[in-house]
Amino acid sequence: MPSDRKSGGLDPPFEEWDIFFNRVLDSSIPLSTLRAIRSVIQTVCFSPTCDKTRGVRNWNYRQTLCAILLCASNALSQDEPQVRLIATGGSIAAGRSGSLTAQQLRELVPELSAIAEVSVEDYLAIGSSRMTPELQYGLAERVNKLFLDRPDLSGIVVTHGTDSLEETAFLLDLLVTSDRPVVFAAAMRAARETTTDGPRNLLNAVRLAASSEARGLGVMVTLNDEIHGARDARKTHAAALDAFASPHGGPLGHFDHGRIYLTHRPARRLTLDVTALERRVTLIRLFSGSDGSLVRAAIESGQRGIVVEAFGRGNAPPPVMDAVREARTKGIAVVFTTRTGGGRVILSNEARRMGVVSGEDLDGLKARLVLVAALGTTTEPETLQAYFVRLSGQLEN
Ligand code: ASP
Repeated sequence: MPSDRKSGGLDPPFEEWDIFFNRVLDSSIPLSTLRAIRSVIQTVCFSPTCDKTRGVRNWNYRQTLCAILLCASNALSQDEPQVRLIATGGSIAAGRSGSLTAQQLRELVPELSAIAEVSVEDYLAIGSSRMTPELQYGLAERVNKLFLDRPDLSGIVVTHGTDSLEETAFLLDLLVTSDRPVVFAAAMRAARETTTDGPRNLLNAVRLAASSEARGLGVMVTLNDEIHGARDARKTHAAALDAFASPHGGPLGHFDHGRIYLTHRPARRLTLDVTALERRVTLIRLFSGSDGSLVRAAIESGQRGIVVEAFGRGNAPPPVMDAVREARTKGIAVVFTTRTGGGRVILSNEARRMGVVSGEDLDGLKARLVLVAALGTTTEPETLQAYFVRLSGQLEN
């Protein structure tokens, strides 16, 4: 390949272009002009008839044009929202011959480039029933680091299986410190099926992550044209396209005809500054005849936290309360939630005296994650209670 470059300095034509490049990078040239330059250069340099075009046969000239294209692209991308796509697996990535990479997911939806400059990375390629606190924590750390290293990022999209999505999304909501949006996208129909809902959900997720107005909304989940806050999102059906819902808070908004409609802002959020998770936290559901043996098994297996899905407002029969007392004597954190699926727990005086914590109206899965995140830092029932009260939305007076 011929080269006219002399050592130690730019060739005369390049000196002139250098001034032009600097102007471009200073953005003293309007964006519309840059767009026009880009499209002309793309046509002239990269059309099949390119070599027949007068003037472009010359290498210097062609090289220079390419450099202008690069400059214009850089300047344009400074203006375009930057979104990072992190793939973790799940049905949204379940292709015919294995899990699609983040790059392949992006290529499935060419419309993404009209919304944002999407960079990609693969974090995992697993079914989400295999998700663990360690993997979830690693993802939260990665998201925090990306936001720290990339002040230009508008937001992050995480593709994830639906099975444990509500847990990962909520844990990230507790652990991500930036106010920029993190949006989880998933699919109820695998990528290999003709009726897959993945591309639409991914497109919506990028649209939301690219929006500067999505700041402060925390971690969100989108499927079926709906936006759910991580605190309230739940998978409520094993197969339906509208499986995700926010049964008590309602969705934050929805998408329609390529626009985002935000109808609520999440008021019930908590951010924890955490350096280690406690994975030894278990979840026990009470049933008529519960005798406390499961609570004792949890104590014996070394759990540091136990979440009990109790009856109604937080009721438990005497044999269970005896086992809970034992757990508390051993310093194990115990949180009562309600197995009814809605409403707030009000602790009995007996439970309160033992130092049981009310999970308020948080469901068992989410209450468990609060302990997973908090127990590495504190086991104090008062502090833990304050976290749940904060997540309940209760005002101070
Ligand atoms: N098995 C899948 C998962 O990873 C299911 C799904 O994504 O819908 O959760």
